[in-house]
Amino acid sequence: MSRRQISGEPGVLSVDHTLCSGTGHCVDRLPQLFTIEHGRAWLADAAALSTVDTQHLHEVEAGCPWFAITYQPRPPAPAEESSPATPGLE
Ligand code: SF4
Repeated sequence: MSRRQISGEPGVLSVDHTLCSGTGHCVDRLPQLFTIEHGRAWLADAAALSTVDTQHLHEVEAGCPWFAITYQPRPPAPAEESSPATPGLE
């Protein structure tokens, strides 16, 4: 079974089937992630975002002629907070 959305370490990749026309440009660019079934793009079961350079994920999103692909990078983890020293409490 294929999916319309996958998430992983680099972010979330999804296909909007209300916009996808099945042109297959995404499959041409990233055949390890996309497949065409019943005239729509799907994300392959074995797809692993972590195996694809994030630049390629941005490119496949930008290359969809119907704007059906969305790639949302995962925000960077917040830096570890260090407690500011309180003057006079040492
Ligand atoms: S490139 Fe866009 S419109 Fe074409 S099959 Fe892929 S998701 Fe659908």
